[in-house]
Formats: sequence, structure tokens, C-alpha cells
Amino acid sequence: MSMATASLSSRQETVPPEPGEIPDLARYDHVIIACSFGKDSLASTLHLLEKGVAPQRIEWWHHLVDDDGDVFDWPHVPDYGRHLAAALGVRLYFSARQGGIVREMLRENAPTAPVWFDTPTGRVTVGGKGPPNTRRRFPQVSANLSVRWCSPYAKIMVADGALRNQARFSHARTLFVTGERAAESANRARYAVFERHRADCRDGRIRRHIDHWRPVHAWSEAAVWQILRRHGVIPPLPYQLGFGRLSCLTCVFMSADQAATLRHVDPDRFARLCEWERAFGCTIRRDRDLGTLASGGTVYGPVRQHPSLVRRALCRRWRGRVLTSPEQWVLPAGAFGESAGPV
Ligand code: SF4
Repeated sequence: MSMATASLSSRQETVPPEPGEIPDLARYDHVIIACSFGKDSLASTLHLLEKGVAPQRIEWWHHLVDDDGDVFDWPHVPDYGRHLAAALGVRLYFSARQGGIVREMLRENAPTAPVWFDTPTGRVTVGGKGPPNTRRRFPQVSANLSVRWCSPYAKIMVADGALRNQARFSHARTLFVTGERAAESANRARYAVFERHRADCRDGRIRRHIDHWRPVHAWSEAAVWQILRRHGVIPPLPYQLGFGRLSCLTCVFMSADQAATLRHVDPDRFARLCEWERAFGCTIRRDRDLGTLASGGTVYGPVRQHPSLVRRALCRRWRGRVLTSPEQWVLPAGAFGESAGPV
């Protein structure tokens, strides 16, 4: 179906697919995948490609949770994403809240920062005019997004801003895809597979129709790795270093082993987090500070065994391949391992 034809049908209600079925992908003008470059968003992308969506129809939206800072994100991941987008032929748009999670965390008598997002015609900045108030605390370890505020402020609300402030999504049908899986947590198991997106406005004057689809919600981890193998996609380096998920390098949900690993690979970054815990008078975890958490953990074996991989993971420039053949593809050390991360 042409884009024009799809737009003409934008008033029609979407019939949710039956469990296990997929929505009619030809009926959408825009197909957006919120892509962290973690295995589940990559699996979602590859699933769409296998279902016949042409790569040039797919937009990857990647939220830079640090903006241009260096606290939360794995440094190599954005450039890895650039290389993989080019290899697969999908479009890639970056976005962020100005100053990232850190600016929001340190906010003192100031409004929440604006968000920026790249578009087909250039970068747009919106927001930043809210009332001044003070945060000065880490995101808290909780499934409640109002206290685990990093995900909404650095990702969910950034995407909402990009959807609500681009005219190309008005009078059009958009499919917004994310890669949460039920097996990750009891909280994620409750997510709907298919629903109206938060930024949907199909009944309003602008008829912005946005469906939210979680295509791998029912998938096992084995199925996720299998599709990466089929397409020869080499996942980002944390998986090879023993991490089971691609969370932030300094994710507030880090396990004791991950804290020990972080302290080992990047002691300066770790020390900054500890200093903020002291300055805020509030630790990331209620029961112990970060130093105590790390002291109870064990550095991941692959991190000790492969210092050159660690150096690559902490470098902003990606060096290496992103694709290989299915025969040469290797299951990374972190597969089926510890899966600490956001719930
Ligand atoms: S990965 Fe962890 S620290 Fe990063 S945004 Fe998600 S919950 Fe927050």
C-alpha cells in the first residue's frame, strides 16, 4: 500500500491482532522502532524484516540517555548503532533530553530540560518551560516510573515529544514498536502486546493515529538469540563481556556483580556515582551504598579475560564488524546469564 493510500485510511480504527498474529504492517505510513540496540529491540527489527517490511520503511529511534555526557550510557553503543543501521539499511534518528539523566538528577530550582530529536529535515528542540523545582536524587529502584524517573525522562517522554511535534505524524498512521518481553519481569508480563500509544490522537482534529506494538513480548530469550543468529547480527559488546541485558552501564538496577564489574572497568565513573550518593544523602538502593554493593559482588569473568574488549566498549568510536554469517555467529558469554536491569 502506498503512503497516500495508508493516510486515507487513517480514520479507521485498528483491529488489534489476535494473540500470536501480527498487525497489518502495510497499513502504516511510518514504522518506528525504539531501539536501544539491545537484543530485544534488534530482534523486533529483524522480525519486522522477516515479515516483509522493507528496511527503508523502518526508523530506529535511539535515545541518548546522557545526551553528550558520559555517566550512564555505554560509550560505544551509539556508534555501533550507526554502523548497524547502515548495514541493515534502516534510518536512524537520535534524540535526548538536554543534559541527559545527569542534568535532571542534579536539577536544583530549575525547570526540567528541553528535549531534542532528529527528524528527516533536521534537529528540533521542544519543552523546557515547566515550573522550577529540585530533584537532586538518583532514580530509585522501582517498577513505579514516577520514582524510577530515568526511563520516562530520558526515553519515554522524549519519544512522546518527537511524536507530538512532527507534522508528518498528523493525518497518518504510525506503528511504534518496542522490545519488552514478558519473561523479563512480572511487571513487563502485564504490558499489552498491542495498544494505543500514549501520543495517539486519532479522535482529535489532527488525527494522529499511533499504535504501540510489542512483537517479541511472548518470545523466549532463546528465540531472540536465534533470530540474531539467522541474520548474523553481532550484538553490542556488553553481551560479550558477560552482561545478560544491554541496560545503562551505570543502571540503577545493577546487581552486586555488575557494580563490582563497573568499579573494575571504570573506577572514575564509579567514584562519581559514590560521590553523588554522599552529596544527595540518599543512596541508589535503600539498604546499602554503591561501594558496599560492589564489595559483595564478583567481576564478570569475560571482563577480566578480555581487557581489549573492555577498551572497545568504553570507546566512543565503534571498531569491528556488526554483521557476520550465521555459521560464524557466536552466542555471547552473557546470553542466558544474569539479567539485572529495569523491571
Ligand atoms: S537502563 Fe537503568 S539507568 Fe538506564 S534508563 Fe533504564 S532503568 Fe534507568
